[in-house]
Amino acid sequence: MKVLVAVKRVIDYNVKIRVKSDHTGVETANVKFSMNPFDEIAVEEAVRLKEAGKASEVVVVSIGPATAQETLRTALAMGADRGILVQTDDEVQPLGVAKALAAVVAKEAPQLVILGKQAIDDDSNQTGQMLAALLGWSQGTFASKVEVGDKLTVTREIDGGLQTISISLPAIVTTDLRLNEPRYASLPNIMKAKKKPIDMTSPADLGVDVAPRLVTLSVEEPPKRSAGIKVPDVAALVDKLKNEAKVI
Ligand code: AMP
Repeated sequence: MKVLVAVKRVIDYNVKIRVKSDHTGVETANVKFSMNPFDEIAVEEAVRLKEAGKASEVVVVSIGPATAQETLRTALAMGADRGILVQTDDEVQPLGVAKALAAVVAKEAPQLVILGKQAIDDDSNQTGQMLAALLGWSQGTFASKVEVGDKLTVTREIDGGLQTISISLPAIVTTDLRLNEPRYASLPNIMKAKKKPIDMTSPADLGVDVAPRLVTLSVEEPPKRSAGIKVPDVAALVDKLKNEAKVI
């Protein structure tokens, strides 16, 4: 079974995000970028499937600028076999990404595609679902456990608990936080990853139109939270909740 994993290069989760002064987006100059954390979990799951003899090959794919090759190299160092960069310097929104991934799926014919449940930059939580819709494949989203047999058993994190579903292959899985703990790439594996192949392609080569369909009108900082206060004792707290906040 060939497994395709989608990995996105995003601003590192430790970076304090700053809105540009013209409100067109966020500052990206001199900022650290890393692999989207949910995609690290996706790569880890695919590599574990390979180590368990359930996957034959793990191919990682990214849509983005030339620098996204670094993200692919990280995935290769974690144990993926080869990478594909769909290179573009333009903004690509979830529908565009899903279309590009669908074209890669048509070429690569994987049985399973694993994506993160969401990218931490746009927080869209759309690409996996859109890809499943475009391909007409089964989907197991927000996975916290995946078991591969003739069918795929996916435990999903849903509001108020867990849901276990059985879906047929080929399928799309999107990862939730509890699925696994991604490994750190060891130095020898980072060295080995330098020799693994990355194929370069583009939306035009794949024949897909990834032009944005949404227009960003303005990006704003969230409102600043006003400072809290300290109350001397529980009685004062209850009094304030009752008479000032009027919540009890
Ligand atoms: P989103 O729908 O934007 O929240 O992203 C969900 C998931 O889709 C991510 O965790 C990635 O696995 C995948 N994805 C989104 N954008 C890209 C991209 N530009 N390149 C590769 N994978 C992507």
